[in-house]
Amino acid sequence: MLQIRDNLKRVREKIAKAASKVGRNPQDVQLVAVSKTVDTKRIKQAIEAGATILGENYIQEARRKIEELGQDVRWDFIGHLQSNKVKHAVDLFEMIHSVDRLSLAQEINKAAEKKKKKVRILVQVNISGEEAKSGIDPGGIISLVREIAFLPNLSLEGLMTMPPYFDDPEEARPYFASLRELRDKILKESIGGISLKELSMGMSGDFEVAIEEGSTLVRVGTAIFGERILTTS
Ligand SMILES: *Cc1c(COP(=O)(O)O)cnc(C)c1O
Repeated sequence: MLQIRDNLKRVREKIAKAASKVGRNPQDVQLVAVSKTVDTKRIKQAIEAGATILGENYIQEARRKIEELGQDVRWDFIGHLQSNKVKHAVDLFEMIHSVDRLSLAQEINKAAEKKKKKVRILVQVNISGEEAKSGIDPGGIISLVREIAFLPNLSLEGLMTMPPYFDDPEEARPYFASLRELRDKILKESIGGISLKELSMGMSGDFEVAIEEGSTLVRVGTAIFGERILTTS
């Protein structure tokens, strides 16, 4: 209990410090506590210690947890989303960080329309061009954003990326900077109704650098909950 509380406190302090370092308001950076593979008992401890946004990667696992813990906190989906799980994702999550193709955006829009709600989404970008990574490549993003702008039940609010893993977080900096520059480039196109306020970037090992480069949503798991035990779920 104490440990999760302490970890959260430490992460929050680091967020504030990184924001101040570059003259940003720490309030403009939201913490997504990534709780994949973490049991509900420990998630509850994080909520009691003030976590307000939880991030999950797998629909089935998240559904179990959300049924138990309720939707008073905000749940965000950050994993790879398969089309056949879209309906559940729309039921369970407030924001989907990982929209990487038009067909997926269309499915989410359709499911949201049925539920008479608007779903907040981010477009996931494969900035590094690594083949194994999800995300649209930067060259295709403006046309994707133009198409998404026509979908009435989606609220496109920004971009998300995952750089390659580095031991030294400084090496991730150019990838974070690229996502910010890409966002600014899209904004110059003045596509109707699109503001792209959010940049979802930075994890346990590199969130401070990400904040210095403009992150508004850091997705932090290990630094809050400790090392994940590998499961097959
Ligand atoms: C697991 C995961 C995280 C959190 O990673 P940590 O290194 O544990 O902080 C962030 N984003 C995504 C997309 C993830 O899958």
